[in-house]
Amino acid sequence: MNRIIMHIDVNNAFLSWTALDLLNKGYKYDIRNSYAVIGGDEKKRSGIVLAKSNSAKKLGIVTGETLYSARNKCKILKTYPPNYQWYQEMSKKLFNLLSKYTDDIEIASIDECYLDYTKIKHIYGDEVKFAHKIKKEIYDTLKFTVNIGIANNKLCAKMASDFEKPYKVHTLYDYEIKTKMYPLYIGDLFGIGKKTVPKLEKLGIKTIEDLANYDELKLAKYFKNQAIKMINSAKGINNEPVKKERDERKCLSNETTLSHDLTDKLEIYDILNKISDNLARALRKEEKYANVVEVHLKDNMFKKFSHQKKLNNATNLTNEIYEASKELLNEMYNNEPIRLIGIKLDKLVTKSNHQVSLFEQVENREDDLKLEKTIDQLQEKFGSKIITRANVKGNEIKKKY
Ligand SMILES: [Mg+2]
Repeated sequence: MNRIIMHIDVNNAFLSWTALDLLNKGYKYDIRNSYAVIGGDEKKRSGIVLAKSNSAKKLGIVTGETLYSARNKCKILKTYPPNYQWYQEMSKKLFNLLSKYTDDIEIASIDECYLDYTKIKHIYGDEVKFAHKIKKEIYDTLKFTVNIGIANNKLCAKMASDFEKPYKVHTLYDYEIKTKMYPLYIGDLFGIGKKTVPKLEKLGIKTIEDLANYDELKLAKYFKNQAIKMINSAKGINNEPVKKERDERKCLSNETTLSHDLTDKLEIYDILNKISDNLARALRKEEKYANVVEVHLKDNMFKKFSHQKKLNNATNLTNEIYEASKELLNEMYNNEPIRLIGIKLDKLVTKSNHQVSLFEQVENREDDLKLEKTIDQLQEKFGSKIITRANVKGNEIKKKY
């Protein structure tokens, strides 16, 4: 059976939410109808446009440019600081409203989520009518607008919500991919980063259709194992499930919000190492093993990224979790400033059903496990600073505990 997935995305989230905040505080007019941007602190390096009103957009102001450059395009431009606490509140209200209808909701970022409509269609009926209804309900009760994309998978739902804005419902069912998605510019394909676009253009790939029809082996020369995924995305193929938020409780995860944005990979490795250690220690304490490691990042625009991998052998060793998390980071990190780093361990199993594979070097792992357990005990006794584990900054000292 075809799935029905919706992607709900707040239009101009930061700007709309600040507009509401100001109206609540007695502001006389709605900044959504003026030349306005939300921008960070100009004295720090966060002095960039985080969101812009439609009027500002018409003058060529884009997200990510400096406030200085934006003001050059519009002399009467007004800038307002972001209010993240208020944004979190509005975000929560939106997801609460949607969760009245189903708990099959995956929060993708502060202002967007996926909703799996498949199992509730028999209750609420036609999905397009339903989408129009909740779009209106959100506007009536929360006073901001959303776009809703409807499709047979997450990728196409996301693409559909990005069609014409604001306050629109669009469909991109499998049978509409060739007519609605193929003609679009390659840079519009979700998951294709800014740095990848010029590389694809060099190969003569201009539209999503060009990529969909591109030779897989040829593309693999440039993009290695990402090539298949890229071509599948262009074809609108995506089987990822909508990951319910409550599933989070069945796994073990740990994340760190950073005091400053990070762009140095070695520093990120360092944090991954610490998180791996915390999680592995928790697993060892419970005599559990993880089959799946997932790394998630949030950049300074609150965009979430995550990659996961299934391990050959379930593990509770710090080093194995750390190595997997490094690999995952390398797959997805695109040098954007990072604000949050997390690791999730999933498909946990207990000792009794932990199968040792043929390829596993049993003795080495037994030694590693003994060593790590000893460290756990020492750290519990003397505090975590007394002994540090594998140093991440050079392989030669990797085994120096
Ligand atoms: Mg949005």
